[in-house]
Amino acid sequence: MDKIIKTCKVCPVGCELIINEDQSEPSGYHVEGNSCNRGKDFGIKEIIEPSRILTGRVLLKNGAMSRLPVKTTGVVPEDKIEECLKIFNSTEAISPIKRGTVIIKDILGLGVDVIAARKA
Ligand code: SF4
Repeated sequence: MDKIIKTCKVCPVGCELIINEDQSEPSGYHVEGNSCNRGKDFGIKEIIEPSRILTGRVLLKNGAMSRLPVKTTGVVPEDKIEECLKIFNSTEAISPIKRGTVIIKDILGLGVDVIAARKA
């Protein structure tokens, strides 16, 4: 495997991670560029089980716009993204909504919420 470069999405710092195969590591991968261990775990998980913060839109009622931008509060496994987007498409929020308001609690039981990305 060639080295893989990923941006850590665990916190807003956004460290650039360089991930290489390394059989001397218990995980089989060596991660550089991380400022903390959470970044190392994120980098390894991104190779073994890719996932990402999901963004999208839900329907908005009584607002100045017809759709409300939303995002997940944590990462969603790649194989669950399509299912989550279907739920986004069938969800309706009612204005007024503050930024950060939980729109969908614990989506698919993944332990992450879907929140409003802006006020509306
Ligand atoms: S490696 Fe640590 S400091 Fe850097 S973005 Fe990830 S969580 Fe934040």
